[in-house]
Formats: sequence, C-alpha cells, structure tokens
Amino acid sequence: MAFSVRATSSNLARNVVSKTRFSSSSSLASKHSQGMVGKKVNASSVPFRFQSASRKSSVVTVQAADGPVCVVTGASRGIGAAIATQLGAQGCRVVVNYAASAGPAEEVCKTIKASGGDAIAVQANVAKQEEVDALFKAAVDAFGEVNVLVNNAGITRDTLMMRMKLAQWQEVIDLNLTGVFLCTQAATKIMGKKKPVKGRIINITSVVGVTGNAGQANYSAAKAGVIGLTKTVAREYAGRNIQCNAIAPGFIASDMTAELGPEIEAKILTTIPAGKYGQPEDIAGMVRFLALDPAAAYITGQTIHVDGGMVM
Ligand code: NDP
Repeated sequence: MAFSVRATSSNLARNVVSKTRFSSSSSLASKHSQGMVGKKVNASSVPFRFQSASRKSSVVTVQAADGPVCVVTGASRGIGAAIATQLGAQGCRVVVNYAASAGPAEEVCKTIKASGGDAIAVQANVAKQEEVDALFKAAVDAFGEVNVLVNNAGITRDTLMMRMKLAQWQEVIDLNLTGVFLCTQAATKIMGKKKPVKGRIINITSVVGVTGNAGQANYSAAKAGVIGLTKTVAREYAGRNIQCNAIAPGFIASDMTAELGPEIEAKILTTIPAGKYGQPEDIAGMVRFLALDPAAAYITGQTIHVDGGMVM
C-alpha cells in the first residue's frame, strides 16, 4: 500500500484529535491498529497515527493508515463524499467509488490522505454486476479486505406516475435498489472469508421510502425496497457478526436537492420542523457511528431517520 500522508504541524494537530477519538471509540478500528502502538519513529518523515493522548508520552508514536477498509459507493460528491471524508479522518482506508466524476473523486482521496486515512478512487457503475465485481476486486487488491460497506450511490428521475416511462422507473430501481443488492452480496462474500467474520453495512435510504412522495414512484419504491433488504440482510447475517442498518435522510443540501429549485425548496422547508435542510456531514456522522463505534455493535436491521424531525 502506498502512503502519501506526511506529518506537518497543521495536520499533526488535526490527527491528535481525530485519532484519539478513533482509538477510544472504535473496536473495529482498534483491532486494526494493534501491534503498532509503541513503535517509535521520527514524526517528521513518515505517515502517522497517534496513540491516545492519555498515554502522555513525549515521543510521538506514528503509523500508516490501517483502519477498517470502507467501500463507499457514490463518494465523489454530496453525502457520499462527506461520508468518505469522515471515515478517512478516522484513519480508515476508503474506496471512493464514482460513476463519472473522476476529478472530484481524486480530490476526496487527497482530503482523506491529508487527514491521516488512505484512499483509492474506483470508477464503477454499481447497477452493473461486472462493474461491482471489479470494484470489490480493486478494494481487495489495494487493501486486502473489506470491513465496511456504505451503499450511498443514488439518482432521481422524478415525474408523476401517469407520465413515468418504464425506462425512468427501471434506471432508478437498477441503481438505487439492485445496486445495493449487488454491492451487499459482493461485500458479504469478502467479509465472510476473514475469520472471525465481522462487518458493518450501512444503506442510505430516504424518508420518502417510508412516506412515499408524489413524483417519485420509482425513487420511493427503490428506497422502501432498501429498507426491506436491510432488514433481511440483518436477519441473515446477525449470527455471523455482520450488522446491516439503514439511514433515512430528510432533505440534505446536495446536487440532488439543488435540482429542486427555490419554489419547491420553500414548500419543503415548511414540512421540516428544524426549518432547514440538513448538511451531508449530518448523515456522515451517523454513518461514522454505525460503521465504527463499538456502541453500535448491537444495532442491526434498523432504519435511523436523520431528517430534522420530518418523519416521527
Ligand atoms: P448526489 O447526486 O449529490 O451524488 C450522487 C453520487 O452517486 C455521486 O457521487 C455519483 O457519482 C454517484 N453515482 C451516480 N450514479 C452512479 C452509478 N451508477 N454508480 C456509482 N455511483 C453513482 O446525491 P446525494 O449526495 O444527494 O445523495 C446520496 C444518497 O443519499 C443517495 O442514495 C440519495 O438517494 C440519498 N438521499 C439524498 C437526500 C438528499 O436530500 N440529498 C435525501 C435522502 C436520501 P458521479 O459524481 O460520478 O456522478
């Protein structure tokens, strides 16, 4: 694995905070860092991760990113980019998947490396089985394993039922639902190979998968399907130490919601008790908890709403 992070005084300070939080809160992560603590090296010349500040050593203990391997689909922009960035800042090795935005995906990788994680960008249309297979092969070739899958990639093709073409229906179902099935199948195969088996899968669904929404028959059906799939995967894999949960965002500021325009936005805001759109980081924080925190180890099959109170 090639490392590009180099210690500087500014990222040194950032990493003291993020790695301390990581090592005290993540059993998955700490398992990956075992054997490295106490290795004394020159902090000015090597990639680094810090021991907990509570050890009070005057010698900086550093190591390369060796946290959980996280595949994040659709991570070049919006919510996926925020998720990949937050996981990377925790020392994770992140596979930044994208469909067309190679430049933005590389930028996300750079940000991750600068914060002490490691990352590769991999182009793949996750609605296609052969491309999903290639995505997971690239993950294993680069990092040796897959510990966390975040099924985030999604599209909208909105129009009323009466006008919706079969192709518009199919395109959304193929990516937003079948893509989740394909990636989950590929990830669980890899997670199941390493003993003891463990893994965490987080699916990004939507409030409209619970409530329905005029103009989104395709999207709301796909997102409702993701909730059902989440529960089934949770049941099938709970005994094998793989948790599967879904997050249902409300309206989050991103390219997807920017398409709605100011008039629809004003109407939407009246339906959100918090009175504002959420930010991609609001979703990323919940992913970070479900993916890395030991406190999430007994949570599976759940759909967690992060929506400013829209659905309760
Ligand atoms: P964006 O439109 O901002 O980003 C979509 C991401 O998905 C991009 O990285 C894009 O890659 C990627 N993508 C698109 N098609 C494919 C494909 N075939 N294969 C792989 N990746 C693909 O979306 P958001 O960040 O807003 O949404 C992310 C997720 O959150 C989606 O599942 C969405 O349904 C869900 N969600 C969003 C809400 C919101 O308010 N924004 C609300 C509720 C749910 P590229 O850049 O290469 O095109």
